[in-house]
Amino acid sequence: MKNCNCQEVWNKCLEIIKDNITNDAFETWFKPLEAVSLENETLTIKVPSVFFYEWIEANFITILRASIRKVIGPDAKLLYTAPFDNTNKQTYPSLNKDMTINPPKRVPIMIPDNTNNDVINPFVIPGIKPLNIDSQLNENYSFDNFVEGSCNQLARSAGYAVAQNPGKTAFNPFFIYSNVGLGKTHLAHAIGLETKRLHPEKTVLYVSADQFFQQFADAVKHHTVNNFLQFYQMAIDVLIIDDIQFMKRESVQNVFFQIFNGLYTVGKQIIVTSDKAPSEISGLEPRILSRLKWGLNAELQVPDLDTRIKIIKQKLFNDGGATMPEDVIEYLAYSVNTSVRELEGALISLIAQSSLSKQEITIDLARRIVDRFVKSNTREITIEYIQKVVCGYFNIPLEVMLSKTRKVEIVTARHIAMYLSRKLTKEPLVSIGEKCGKKDHATVLHACKVVENSIDINKSFKKDLEAIEKKIRD
Ligand code: ADP
Ligand code: MG
Repeated sequence: MKNCNCQEVWNKCLEIIKDNITNDAFETWFKPLEAVSLENETLTIKVPSVFFYEWIEANFITILRASIRKVIGPDAKLLYTAPFDNTNKQTYPSLNKDMTINPPKRVPIMIPDNTNNDVINPFVIPGIKPLNIDSQLNENYSFDNFVEGSCNQLARSAGYAVAQNPGKTAFNPFFIYSNVGLGKTHLAHAIGLETKRLHPEKTVLYVSADQFFQQFADAVKHHTVNNFLQFYQMAIDVLIIDDIQFMKRESVQNVFFQIFNGLYTVGKQIIVTSDKAPSEISGLEPRILSRLKWGLNAELQVPDLDTRIKIIKQKLFNDGGATMPEDVIEYLAYSVNTSVRELEGALISLIAQSSLSKQEITIDLARRIVDRFVKSNTREITIEYIQKVVCGYFNIPLEVMLSKTRKVEIVTARHIAMYLSRKLTKEPLVSIGEKCGKKDHATVLHACKVVENSIDINKSFKKDLEAIEKKIRD
């Protein structure tokens, strides 16, 4: 094998690999690799970035090893080399023990420096100058428009500090979480806008987790993952990722992890929002969750009455200074106490209704709107709520229902909770099972069958079930 040309050897390896993985995977992950040398049965291949190296090690090492051994021999070894690291030409051993020449070292995450200008911006059509990055920030979501209250004091002031000194405070990453409609997106934009105002030279980018995933999927499809990574790692000073709970796929999480590490290592600011605290998010990899806990986690809570009144007044002011009687403002603020989004919704409906029907805005009109609005919008039936009602009806403690007991009456209650969760929520079977005592989806399906059968043959069971369902819906 000594005299064999490394390119030839590599081509043979590629043929084997190609036969064993999907075409897309081959084009994306193997096409960009280059064989650099073959010395003493050690093949060195050049990867476009350290991310490729980690990805290949994590996903393709088995086939890569098999092909190299087949072509070079049983003692073949593998080394990777990445560009960007032109200061000291470092190579990385395969982390796979029996492919390693030296004992495996921890491989540093190398960050490409800014001298390479070939950054392709996934936000613009190819060809447009990459450095004009649209931050995707909404000017209306500013700090000026974000009413302060005890519900958001910590998050607001920390966000403000981040904007003064992005990447330089202890609040990196800055993690904002809350239920829906309480101002996460607004605050994230406000931080971005303020950062740009104070540091016009910095590049800020707001992106939703969905959009990020879409871009990544496109990059995989078009074999431009490397460009995607370079864009995020090289061009951005402040990265805002909204609604990270939607980043469910492992592949995109891996990419995010790399980008996160890259940005963090060089002191760039990362801002993340989510509907839950890091410890409660399901579906995110533990290594990402632990990273998210490094900085500051701040919760936005439901604003208290005074803050809700201020928010209404501010919205009226922004809406061209529309006026509204004080008692109506108070009534609205008092009755809509779920989220700021609901509050805004009720306010807009009220103004629209009054102008459409040419009626004055009065408490009476407000009452009618709120009744309609709150009833149809704010009630969301959750699995937890269903369980609470079922347990209340049968008078059994929740922990007993969720336990493993096989007592008939407990099993029946558990089945009913699962059946109604399936009927009344949009939750997938897996989550229903998980929340009903860690059962799998087949158990939930079985429970639903049992309940459906009992409805047909057992009148008193049917009555109980109807009574419970009515209680839940009311
Ligand atoms: P989330 O991202 O938490 O679901 P949003 O940021 O989209 O919530 O907020 C919902 C609406 O409520 C937006 O129109 C936002 O401007 C408004 N809002 C939330 N909090 C405040 C606040 N403290 N002051 C003013 N408006 C707010
Ligand atoms: Mg949001």
